[in-house]
Order: sequence, then structure tokens, then C-alpha cells
Amino acid sequence: MPAYKIAVLKGDGIGPEIVESAIKVLKGVEHLSGHSFELEEGLIGGVAIDQKGEPLPQETLDLCLKADAVLLGAVGGPKWDNLPTSKRPERGLLEIRKALDLYANLRPAKVYEPLIGASPLKEEVVRGTDFIVIRELTGDVYYGEPRGIFLEGGKRIGINTMRYTEDEIRRVVVKGFEVAMKRRKKLTSVDKSNVLEVSGLWRDVVEEERKNYPEVEVEHLYVDNCAMQIVRRPSSFDVIVTGNIFGDILSDEAAVITGSLGMLPSASLGERYALYEPIHGSAPDIAGKGIANPIATILSVAMMLRYSFHLEKEAKAIERAVELVLEKGYRTPDIYSEGCLKVGTKEMTDAIISSLEEAWQSF
Ligand code: NAD
Repeated sequence: MPAYKIAVLKGDGIGPEIVESAIKVLKGVEHLSGHSFELEEGLIGGVAIDQKGEPLPQETLDLCLKADAVLLGAVGGPKWDNLPTSKRPERGLLEIRKALDLYANLRPAKVYEPLIGASPLKEEVVRGTDFIVIRELTGDVYYGEPRGIFLEGGKRIGINTMRYTEDEIRRVVVKGFEVAMKRRKKLTSVDKSNVLEVSGLWRDVVEEERKNYPEVEVEHLYVDNCAMQIVRRPSSFDVIVTGNIFGDILSDEAAVITGSLGMLPSASLGERYALYEPIHGSAPDIAGKGIANPIATILSVAMMLRYSFHLEKEAKAIERAVELVLEKGYRTPDIYSEGCLKVGTKEMTDAIISSLEEAWQSF
């Protein structure tokens, strides 16, 4: 059986700690399943700036282009905060998404019953929440031209441009329908078509595509209304598809209602390449303390197994092992509550690996 090639980009802050944990779990899967994974490391973010002078060195990009999938930790930190925007660690992320043409970002927002008390929402509101936000990732106001700060009549003017072609909209909307077909067959498309022409086009494309997916129930929401409905009726959503900037904000809101940023994985998919990373950042405030929650990165590996390698049983085994460990009461400080067992990154990782076999046997 050929080995799956994974480019590993640990990045900054807690990045190295949580990626190490995820790799240990992957080794556990290797042991159980007989599949093999070939890992090769590259530099990205602040650590790449320090060593190579740029946030995404060409050799890192070449490594990713050769790999079957990319696993990323997180980038950024106060050390690099004063660099110009074009030289910051976060630039490396934007560049890699663009270079690999990763146009669809899948962010599951799932509430685990043992953690339901960690949600800022009432239990009866949040119980059963399990939806995915699909955020378009390579277009919109983050990439549109013209952009910059210009002088107009002796005064500065800041400009960014919201821009989408119909093809860019269509491919992510189709991804939304496809994911919905594999789930509960409900798609919520989010826009601001009451004021933005770009959003009008977005809505038209969704209406054109829905004819190809008659089984999928389609709902259109304005972004401001969607932001409210996510806190009012989160369990009613299945798949939310939206543009880059709206998705950026809504997926962070979705993260908060689940109780912890440290629990949420993500997948960024293109036609040929895929990158998996936790939603959270490099958490410089806790880096090096051994207390980072590795679960988001471990669940990102599960998404990699599912979406890139089509290893559904292996993906499910990881997800079940995480649930088992939560049921047994293990908690890193970010998700800790009275009466649970407070553990660090290493203990949490070891507990998940210990539960893997039980999870594996259950399928
Ligand atoms: P953050 O997600 O790094 O941290 C926010 C809060 O959540 C912090 O209190 C942190 O300790 C906590 N937290 C995050 N992940 C955690 C985990 N796995 N376990 C336990 N606690 C966790 O966001 P921030 O503080 O706004 O940003 C810090 C740096 O990360 C900045 O430089 C920012 O630009 C960068 N960033 C990177 C990415 C990325 O690499 N994808 C995403 C967001 C922010």
C-alpha cells in the first residue's frame, strides 16, 4: 500500500506542541489500520520569517505541492506584530491558500454533550448543535483590487474591493450542496443582497445550482440575521455556505457557541490540494506551557483522513476516541469545569491514543 504524503507545517506559538500531538495520534491510526503516512516538515509563519526572511518560503510551497495533504498548526505572535502587513506571518497563510487554490474552508461547529456546560448559550438552545460553515477562501474583499491607502485631496482614503466572479461563487456553492447531500440535506446561503451587488450575484448562483440538488432544502439569510439565528437556533443549521469575510466572522461566532476554540478543526479544500488546521491561532499567551488543547488539531487530522484519503473508519475512530476521553472527564484548562480531570497537552494526547483502540473496535 503506498504511503500518504503529508506536508507538516507546525508554525508558531502552540503550533509545534499541538501538531506533535496530532502526529502521535496519526501514528496510532497507522498502527491500527496498517496504512502508512509519510511526513515531511516545512517552515511557515514567524519561524519562516526568522530563518528564511519570508512567511512562505518557496521550498515550503514546493513541499506542499508535492504532498497529498498539508497539516498546519498556527502562525503569528507578538514578535512579528510590528512588521508591515505584507511581511507578517499571517501573510504566509493567505499566500498558501491562494497558491494551493484552496477555495472552500470547512469549519464544523459541533457541541459535545459532555462540554455542553461550557457553551455561553443555554443548554436547551445549544443541545444537538452540529453544523458546518463553508467559507469561500480565495476571493472577496481580502483579495479584490484596488486595495490600499491612497491620498485624495490631501486626505488618506482606505480602499478594499469586494469582488466575486460567478465561477468562484459556483464552485464553493456546489461544494456546499455536495456536503449537504452527505449530511442532513439542508443548506443555508448567507449574503447581504439587500445592499451589495456582489451578494445579489451570489444569491442568483445559489438559485441556479439548487435545481441540480432537488433533495436539498435551501434557505437564504442576510449575514446580520444569520449572526442572530446562530445564537437563537444553532441546532437548526446543517450546512452554511458564504463568502470569505462573512464566513470569517460567522465561523468564529459558531466557534464560541460550542464552548472552546481549542476543540474546532477545519479543512481547506481545492480541486487538487487540501490543507487541515485548527481554527484557533497560535495562542502566544499559553505557548510552551504544555497546556494547549490539542483536540482541534487532532480532529483536523480526522478531517484529513476523511476528505483527502477517504479513510472514513479511521476518521470516525479518532472522533470517537475524542468523545470517549471527554466522557471520561479529561479536560485541558480551556475546557475545564469543576469535578473533571484537569490535564495538559501530553496527558490529553495520551488519553486519546489509549481510547483509539476501543473506538476502532466499535466500528
Ligand atoms: P488565538 O486563537 O491564538 O487565541 C485566543 C484565545 O484562545 C487565547 O486566550 C488562547 O490562549 C486561547 N486558545 C487558542 N487556542 C487554544 C488551544 N488550542 N488550547 C487552549 N487555549 C487556546 O487568537 P489570538 O490571540 O487572537 O491570536 C494570537 C496569534 O495567532 C496572532 O498572532 C494571530 O494573528 C494569530 N492567528 C493565527 C491563526 C492561524 O494560524 N490560522 C488564526 C487566528 C489567529
